[in-house]
Amino acid sequence: MTEELNPFKIAQAQLDEAASIMKLDKQAHSILREPMQTVTVNFPVRMRDGSTNTYTGFRILYNNARGPGKGGIRFHPQESVDTVKALSAWMTWKCALADIPFGGAKGGVVVDTKKLSEQELEGLSRQYIRSIEKFVGPFTDVPAPDVYTNPQVMAWMADEYSKMHGRDEFGMITGKPLELWGSQGRFDSTAVGGMYVLREAAKLKKLNLRNAKVAIQGFGNAGNFAFDLVTKMFKAKVVAISDSQGGVYSEKGLDYKKLEEAKQHGSVMYYKDARRITNDELLELDVDVLIPAAIENQITKRNADKINTKVLLELANGPVTPEADRILHERGVLDLPDFLVNSGGVIVSYFEWAQNISGYYWTKEEVYKKLDTIITRSFSDVLAAQKAYKGLGRKVNLRMAAYIIALRRVAGAMKVRGWY
Ligand code: NAD
Repeated sequence: MTEELNPFKIAQAQLDEAASIMKLDKQAHSILREPMQTVTVNFPVRMRDGSTNTYTGFRILYNNARGPGKGGIRFHPQESVDTVKALSAWMTWKCALADIPFGGAKGGVVVDTKKLSEQELEGLSRQYIRSIEKFVGPFTDVPAPDVYTNPQVMAWMADEYSKMHGRDEFGMITGKPLELWGSQGRFDSTAVGGMYVLREAAKLKKLNLRNAKVAIQGFGNAGNFAFDLVTKMFKAKVVAISDSQGGVYSEKGLDYKKLEEAKQHGSVMYYKDARRITNDELLELDVDVLIPAAIENQITKRNADKINTKVLLELANGPVTPEADRILHERGVLDLPDFLVNSGGVIVSYFEWAQNISGYYWTKEEVYKKLDTIITRSFSDVLAAQKAYKGLGRKVNLRMAAYIIALRRVAGAMKVRGWY
């Protein structure tokens, strides 16, 4: 039988498993199996030759029982409604686990941005936000950057929305440039949060991170900062890294500057003095810490029994399939789930929103300190939930423990609101 790789089916399977373990109320479970609102828009964009192209976009509000929707906007040629649905579900659990006052949402446009000029990209960003204007806002649903969108795109969207409303509405979107009241510390917050989780996991495993061997899949926003931080914060040694074309391995450790140079030539594979490896080989290396930081469905039932790491830090969204999850758990790999590990981005997005609506701004040090407090608390909440189930004679992995906490919070909010 082939393994299920549809991201929304995976998200639903994870939810069903957690609901069954925690005996979630059937009515709450039924509400939480589908998004509350799925908006599809088709909108025209004027191209440089004067013609008009029509693009399709989505904005999905998965659940807003605990507060306005929160979640990024992706511009991707293979964007699909099921991917956006899955990501909006994961955002709901991520915000609930971090205990920040948001529900979950996600957006996307089917577009290959590499084919657009800067002006066309601006036109597309403005037209998309005009199309979904009724469904977003500082107290409705707050977007942010994601795959192939960035602070500049957020600035255009904030500007367009503010013009439509006749007043500045900077709190309607996060991940903005500092010039437009983005937050200090936002740009590397996902990786920084991941490092705080790694620090706590190392304490738990009694793993000395100094000179620990680390392999990272992906050298984009998340992977790049993870490389820099794991070496700077812990003096760990990154022995392998990859991108979509392949990877490199060096027993003595890779150098960040040399990697950046290699990347200028198109891929980390152009790194000199290192052995070339495939992405599959990278995942199976004998290391202390493995950090998937690229795309989903990388660790499946096909390779889960070959994963050879003490700690698996899921910086990417959905890198491990449910079947692989079970295998890793049985093998005793400490697999730290995505919606705990990569929650730093949305936590600092929450800080940005809080600063925007209050008009009072924090230093970078304050941001990192508050991020550390929240994500470390989430980590201990997850461990405590796992321990509580163990006490009841039930072995649950960390992902299920995290789900149970998140579901309890979302279901609790729905209950007091009278939704079931
Ligand atoms: P990115 O587009 O900047 O980088 C992705 C990296 O993955 C690139 O190096 C790319 O070459 C590589 N890649 C693509 N396909 C690959 C393949 N088949 N095998 C190996 N490598 C491949 O994206 P990002 O922002 O770094 O995000 C990476 C992951 O982290 C995603 O799952 C994303 O959802 C998740 N994430 C990112 C953030 C963030 O703040 N950037 C926040 C939360 C979650």
